[in-house]
Amino acid sequence: MKVLVLNCGSSSIKYKLYDDDQQLAEGLLEKIGTAQAQLNHTVILEHQAGIELILKALVDPEKGVLTSIEDIQAVGHRVVHGAESFSESTLITPEVVAKIEECIDIAPLHNPPNLAGIYSISYLLPKVPQVAVFDTAFHQTMPEKAFIYAIPYVFYTRNHIRKYGFHGTSHYFVSHEAAAILGRPIDELKLITCHLGNGSSITAVDHGKSVDTSMGFTPLEGLPMGTRCGDVDPAVPLYIMGKEELNLQQINALLNKHSGVLGISGISNDFRALEEEADKGDKRATLALEVYCYKLKKYIGSYIAAMNGADAIVFTGGIGENSDVVRELVVKDMEFLGIELDADKNHAKRRGEAGDISMPSSRIKVLIIPTNEELVIARDTRRIAAAN
Ligand code: AMP
Repeated sequence: MKVLVLNCGSSSIKYKLYDDDQQLAEGLLEKIGTAQAQLNHTVILEHQAGIELILKALVDPEKGVLTSIEDIQAVGHRVVHGAESFSESTLITPEVVAKIEECIDIAPLHNPPNLAGIYSISYLLPKVPQVAVFDTAFHQTMPEKAFIYAIPYVFYTRNHIRKYGFHGTSHYFVSHEAAAILGRPIDELKLITCHLGNGSSITAVDHGKSVDTSMGFTPLEGLPMGTRCGDVDPAVPLYIMGKEELNLQQINALLNKHSGVLGISGISNDFRALEEEADKGDKRATLALEVYCYKLKKYIGSYIAAMNGADAIVFTGGIGENSDVVRELVVKDMEFLGIELDADKNHAKRRGEAGDISMPSSRIKVLIIPTNEELVIARDTRRIAAAN
């Protein structure tokens, strides 16, 4: 079955076309809403125009991979927030669309572009089944003690404020791949999956189920990230707002766009640049890396405590897959827990390569697994479209 996978962000659309598990094409359309929108240098003012261009590119006589747009049998969408309504991927119906629209209130930046992609396909390919795959769904198995914040309970019942967690599709994918690498069934394993990219999160996966995760009500909680602050004392933004006379929008931008390793280093949100500057002796670049890795190490320790053990720690995402420096800083000096990194294997791993980088004697294995969220979306879409 040919499945088009769409990841519609606020100003970009990433897409991949699959024939069963085989990827036929992929592309990125950026800067929607600006004159520099790219895919043939055309002005693309909104998502529908962008998706029309993507469909055209897929049947282009020279660069295309399809003879007709009718060959697309299903479309899978990444949808960021499904709140408590969705614990698994689902066929998109008018009722499902209405529920995703309800979630706009708690995901104002993410769900509207995801919905724009769904509306566009409904218009352009009205007969094709669509499936929504939610970033939050995998974490719906978390117990209440992990997702309730210690604020008045009414804010949970009335305003749906709780920990939701994100990157669920990636945590799901790498935990299943880890089970395959370890040669054991997922329902026997305790895994800690670290998705480390521009957005970073870590999840405790107990017997295949997410039991805790670092991102929260929004993707701002948890680890420090490229430009997001992660966990801070909640009094800090209140204090800064008072001192600097910032409004809600300004403090939101400060915590989301100007913080994280960029905020600490004053140099970049890109770990390649930070590692380069740290090598040259830049103190704040070094500090940014140390803060990031120290926080991650503490989360790993807390999730081992939460699960009463772990079989493996999995690194994925742009940083997790590529930065031997980060991996080493995170797991070194944890021998007392039975984590022994093989430094040579850690350095030798090349981009895109999966494998075990721990010593044979390591009680807790350390794995690198390239993530593939689009493949999960394509598989779920195929399965659900075929069943309907
Ligand atoms: P992602 O959001 O998963 O695409 O990850 C993107 C981030 O991965 C970039 O911003 C970089 O910080 C990081 N990254 C990519 N390649 C490398 C590398 N070779 N070494 C260190 N960090 C990298």
